[in-house]
Amino acid sequence: MKILRVNQSRIDSIDFSNLPFGKVFTDHMLICSFENGQWGEPEIRPFGPIPMSPATHALHYGQAVFEGMKAYRKSDGKVGIFRPEANFNRLNRSAERMTIPQVPKEIFMDGLIELVRLDQKWVPEGEELSLYIRPFLYASSEFIAARPSESYVFCILLSPSGPYYSGSVKVKIEEKYVRSADGGVGFAKAAGNYGAAFYPTRLAQEAGYTQIIWTDHKNHSLIEESGTMNVAMVIDGVFRTPALSDRILAGITRDSILTILRDNKFPVKEGPITVDELLTAAREQRLSEMFGMGTAAVISPISHIGYRDELIEVPTPKDGISAFVKKTLSDIRRGRVEDPYSWMVDVI
Ligand SMILES: *Cc1c(COP(=O)(O)O)cnc(C)c1O
Repeated sequence: MKILRVNQSRIDSIDFSNLPFGKVFTDHMLICSFENGQWGEPEIRPFGPIPMSPATHALHYGQAVFEGMKAYRKSDGKVGIFRPEANFNRLNRSAERMTIPQVPKEIFMDGLIELVRLDQKWVPEGEELSLYIRPFLYASSEFIAARPSESYVFCILLSPSGPYYSGSVKVKIEEKYVRSADGGVGFAKAAGNYGAAFYPTRLAQEAGYTQIIWTDHKNHSLIEESGTMNVAMVIDGVFRTPALSDRILAGITRDSILTILRDNKFPVKEGPITVDELLTAAREQRLSEMFGMGTAAVISPISHIGYRDELIEVPTPKDGISAFVKKTLSDIRRGRVEDPYSWMVDVI
C-alpha cells in the first residue's frame, strides 16, 4: 500500500463540538483502481478532489454502490470499528447486483484499518460522537455506451460525526411511490436507490412528515422500511421487524439488535407486518414502541404514524426496548462490557 501523508493536518481547524453530518472529512482517503481486469495497489493520500472526465460512466448510468459504518473511541482511549466484515460482505453483494467487480478482502480490510489508524486523532471522544466511514465503489470508464464500465474506483472517506438529533419522527405510510420491488435492487446499497427516494420523501416533508414508511410495491399493504433505515416495532410485547428479502436492505444494526434481543430471551418475530395490523395495534394502544434502525442514528424513535387523513400517536418510552438495545450496543462499542460476539475490530 502506498501512503502519501499530508504535510500539515487540518484537525486544529475543526470544531468538534459542532459537527454537521457528513461534511467534515479527515486528512486522508484510500483509493484503489480496477483496470484491465484487475485491482491495482491501494493508495492512501490526502483527502481531495478526484479529477474526472465528464464522460465518467457512473455519472451517466449510476453504476455505483456504497457502505456506511462507524469507528468509536473506546473508554480506554483505543479505537475500534463496529463489524467491518459485515460491511465488506454487503459491499460485494451490492457490487455483484450492479455488475461491479468484487473488492478483495485485503484491500478493503487492510486499507480500512490502515486509514483509520493514520487518522486516529480524528475519532472523536464523547458518548454521542463517532467516526463515520464511507467506502464506495463507482464505474470510472470514460465512455457513455450503455454497457458495464470496464474500470472502477474503490474509495474510503472518513468523516467525524456528531450526535444525531432526529427529534420526534413523524412517518407517513407511503401508498404511491416505492423504494424497491421483487427482482429489483432494494437489497443493495446502490447509489440510485437514494436518488430515487428523495422525491417522495420531499413530498412527505412538504406534507408535514419527517420520513416515509415504505410499503410493498404490489398492494402497499406490507410495512417494509422507514426511510433509509430498517423498521421495528413492539406489538403485544413482541419485537417485530419485516423478514429480509429482495426488497429489504440487510441492515447490520438490524442484525445486531435481533442478536442482542434473542440472546436476552426477548420475544422476536421476523416476518410480514401488514399496514392494517400496525394501525389496529396503534389505535388499540398495543403498539408500545416503533423505531428505525441504522448506522447513522442507531435508533430513531417514531412518535407519529400518518395514514391517509389519520395521525396516530406512538409511545416513545425512555426505558423501553429501544433504550435497552441502544445502551447494550454502545456499551459494546465503547468497550464498557465484554464483546460477546467479537463485533469490534480494534485498530489501535
Ligand atoms: C444502509 C441502509 C439500512 C441500514 O443498514 P445499517 O447496516 O444498519 O446501517 C437500512 N435500509 C436501507 C435502505 C439502507 O440503505
